[in-house]
Amino acid sequence: MTELERLNQLLLDYFTEIEDRFSCQQKMLKLECLSGCGDCCLGSVTASLLEMLPLAVRLFQQGQADQIFQDLSGTSQESCYFYKRESIDGERGHCSIYSCRPLVCRVFGAFPRRDKWNKLELSVCKKIKSERWMAFEAAVKNLQHNQFEELSFSNVWKEKLMDLRPELATQEYPINSATLQAITFASMYFRM
Ligand code: SF4
Ligand code: SF4
Repeated sequence: MTELERLNQLLLDYFTEIEDRFSCQQKMLKLECLSGCGDCCLGSVTASLLEMLPLAVRLFQQGQADQIFQDLSGTSQESCYFYKRESIDGERGHCSIYSCRPLVCRVFGAFPRRDKWNKLELSVCKKIKSERWMAFEAAVKNLQHNQFEELSFSNVWKEKLMDLRPELATQEYPINSATLQAITFASMYFRM
């Protein structure tokens, strides 16, 4: 097994663990995303090279890496290249790389975290907050009563990512740029 294959498997396992934890948590709190909404994919999403590595590997395996590399190199688009709009204003749409999306896209919507002073807070998107305000208020009360386990906090998952390869996980970039860098990194293994 090459170093890239080993790292890719660790990242895929890590993604599965986050997926299980955060989607269950959002369901339990009744703070899930609104159906068909993709509004936050239009904003500035950032990720590290490491988080985009499973996508880069998949692109090489499917023979799409060169084409996507060219497309991303030639675009000035700030929003995510992989978001597919389903309405003119773009508020409705879907992710075309769902199984390879980075950490932030797996916790989008509602997640507890510790701020830089280690204080607990609940980050909830304003659409969910206004649509599901009763569930939001209940979740804030749960947080105040310390009813969340440590693994519920997004910071813990960022730290786990850093443990895998800190030099590839520390710096974050706009998602399209992080993907370009991940393709360049993976190419060293695929073109050996
Ligand atoms: S990777 Fe998917 S979920 Fe994340 S910003 Fe892009 S389209 Fe949205
Ligand atoms: S986090 Fe909010 S804006 Fe983003 S997809 Fe979910 S409901 Fe829509």
